[in-house]
Amino acid sequence: MRFDILTVFPNLFSSIFEESILKRAIEMGYLEVHIHNIRDYATDKHHITDDYPYGGGGGMVMKPEPLFRAVEGVLGVREGGALPPVPIILLCPQGRTFTQAIAKELSGYPRVLLICGRYEGVDERVRVHLATDEISIGDYVLSGGELPAMVVVEAVVRLLPGVLGDPLGARQDSFAMGLLEYPHYTRPAVYRGYAVPEVLLSGNHAEIARWRRREALRRTWQRRPDLLARIELSEEDRLFLRELEEKKAP
Ligand code: SAM
Repeated sequence: MRFDILTVFPNLFSSIFEESILKRAIEMGYLEVHIHNIRDYATDKHHITDDYPYGGGGGMVMKPEPLFRAVEGVLGVREGGALPPVPIILLCPQGRTFTQAIAKELSGYPRVLLICGRYEGVDERVRVHLATDEISIGDYVLSGGELPAMVVVEAVVRLLPGVLGDPLGARQDSFAMGLLEYPHYTRPAVYRGYAVPEVLLSGNHAEIARWRRREALRRTWQRRPDLLARIELSEEDRLFLRELEEKKAP
């Protein structure tokens, strides 16, 4: 899968793709990332990419010309030409809130283009006539779209087949199955008197799977009950949740 990221601060991406899973995904050929400096597409002498807002008020606004030219240049389209069906995603606090389901949706595309805004944001014509989608990573405002772009890439890349060492890992992650994930433990079996639940040491895989399912249900019931309404539950799941409700167990 290929990501093209448009930014006025390309150096911010210098380390994220050089460590851990993203680095491995690139080395193994699952991921290609191209960082493009929007300034390179500004035609004036000083490569200016922002300007004062019409109507006054504080802050600067990212100009439309460098952004349109950058997207067309990166996608290999002549100025004003029809764009190929590549998602052109504007990172924007007003966009649809990023979720695991959106990460899954994006992982189905061979190529995705991300536009990082700065300052007061981008000229509205970029949002309306250039971007095909807008994504927010949450209800708060950051100074730029670079961190949101990293969040999107990282979440999507985990879902590409072959990227994770353990192929089951991503399938059992929180949200992937609609529930929060069960708790994890590793050695030692007892630490400062705190013991690992016995079932995990039992070697009984059916019992371990049952315990994990119940703990995932318990966690979700405690922390994100809204998720339970959106997934299919087995009869056994429902019974367990009813027990929790009745006991109002912690
Ligand atoms: N004035 C804008 C508003 O109130 O909606 C906020 C602009 S913000 C300071 C500058 C840029 O940061 C945005 O254009 C966007 O690219 C990025 N950004 C900030 N918060 C974000 C979020 N929660 N999700 C995605 N992008 C965000």
